[in-house]
Amino acid sequence: MRKQIVAGNWKMNNDLSQTESLITELKKIKKTSTAEVMVAPTFTNLYNAFDALRETDIEVIAQNMHFAANGAYTGEISASMLKSVGIQTVILGHSERREYFNESDAMLAKKVDAALANSMRVIFCFGEVLEDRKSGNHENVVGSQIKNALFHLEADAFKHIVLAYEPVWAIGTGETASPEQAQDMHAFIRKTLADKYGKTVADSVSILYGGSVKPNNAQEIFSKPDVDGGLIGGAALNATDFFAIVNAF
Ligand code: PEP
Repeated sequence: MRKQIVAGNWKMNNDLSQTESLITELKKIKKTSTAEVMVAPTFTNLYNAFDALRETDIEVIAQNMHFAANGAYTGEISASMLKSVGIQTVILGHSERREYFNESDAMLAKKVDAALANSMRVIFCFGEVLEDRKSGNHENVVGSQIKNALFHLEADAFKHIVLAYEPVWAIGTGETASPEQAQDMHAFIRKTLADKYGKTVADSVSILYGGSVKPNNAQEIFSKPDVDGGLIGGAALNATDFFAIVNAF
């Protein structure tokens, strides 16, 4: 059975004491769903968060990493550095990385390779902008993002990959893809995987939806057959809201 996952991306929010307070709040709330739960603090708070959540079933994950093992890449962080502070999973390809830091599909392919070479799990994000949705080009865009960054991989690699469909027009805007739009795209993504790797692989990969998921819409989105969870931005900064989403499963 595919894993259900709810991951909170805290982005560039929360200093150390705010991170500690949010973790204290998260630890007070009872999880009633079987979904895996992850949170992604900023780099400076990863180790403290990892340490504070060690005895819980909340995994601490990273928001990004560089593809090189080490070297002259000022300001960057490598996979082995993440591993050395307990991090096993990394988000790659978030639309904000693509837009503000010019991360291309080719660069993301290298990042995915580096993460897998270090035995890390990847949450690989992609999604179309509003213009592509309006012109009906959204499936082409999403199909290319997946093919360009992932289709050089062997089928086995998909055991370590989670996909996150995040329509850019729905991120942080309060506008959510309708449950039907999410389902249609997730089914397309699964078919794209099946065409290349076969149905068994396609059926085993978790596909998360991201884009203004909130406590009041999570249940309906998660009820769709090809939606295996969510990548949550804004609502993940509030422990009560985040767990309301986790417990929507
Ligand atoms: C995100 O940035 O991945 C995201 C889904 O943000 P939000 O939930 O705030 O739309």
